[in-house]
Amino acid sequence: MFGRLKFHVPKLSSSSIDTGWRFGLLLSALLCVLPSLLPPALATDATGRLTGECRRDFKVALDIGHTLSQPGATSANGITEFHYNRRLAQAAHDELTKLGVLVVLSGADGGPLRLGERTRLAKAARADLFLSLHHDSVQPRYLSSWAVGGQMRSYSDVFRGYSVFVSGEGGQFPASLRFASLLGGSLLHAGLKPSLHHAEQIPGEGRPLLDARLGIYRFDQLVVLRTASMPAALLEAAVIVNREEEEQAQSPVFLQRLATAIARSVREYCSLTTEPPPRIGVGPTALPVTRARHAADRSWPVMPAPRPAP
Ligand SMILES: [Zn+2]
Repeated sequence: MFGRLKFHVPKLSSSSIDTGWRFGLLLSALLCVLPSLLPPALATDATGRLTGECRRDFKVALDIGHTLSQPGATSANGITEFHYNRRLAQAAHDELTKLGVLVVLSGADGGPLRLGERTRLAKAARADLFLSLHHDSVQPRYLSSWAVGGQMRSYSDVFRGYSVFVSGEGGQFPASLRFASLLGGSLLHAGLKPSLHHAEQIPGEGRPLLDARLGIYRFDQLVVLRTASMPAALLEAAVIVNREEEEQAQSPVFLQRLATAIARSVREYCSLTTEPPPRIGVGPTALPVTRARHAADRSWPVMPAPRPAP
């Protein structure tokens, strides 16, 4: 019964060739047009990063670390950390505004503001994301002295770079980590390097590194993170007791690079929380594109459902 198999090879007439060409042309046209039919949530820039649509009511709270009276670390040149934090927050605010993301700033006037109050303000403003901005120092054992303008100042040129912290406490850890990954990736892409000195096993450090490449640490006890009701991260943008890094931190170019990287990561995070767009494609089994994307990448935790736009 298998010896008498016949293979039917149809002879192509000129009309069937015409039909084939027409079908081919139609398919090519469809392939050309299809990208423009895709929802904005899938748009990417030249580096492959998402630049898709952001919810109109998405809001990020930028928290300016410390206050005028308790200004945090002191830089190698004697400048307060609060000065650098406020400057960076303003620059990031401007970049985010350019990208169409709503921003609420906390602590801009430098007045007294308790840590728990910062996240409470963010919640009251219905912020979807909380980012606390800081600049870094090192443990006393690494500090040396030098004279600046006739005054002795502490410095350390041992460590440099950024660090991102998330708290594992509270229910927003997966989403916080997701944003932290975007932030670390964006800073790396901007040519910045993470500092890993918070992982050193010495008193005051020993923070678990969640991602050494992206410079992400877990720090559960950070009050400003664990009291946040929304996904939250804290960025130590640069080590300002490092003399060379402080010089960089003072430059408008470096500031712009930092601010742009922060804004892009927030924008990218926002685009990934967009409501599923209208169904596209052919047939009833077509999935909403954003859901299909999430399903394809299991390493990314599912985001909470976004609130509807006003
Ligand atoms: Zn600080």
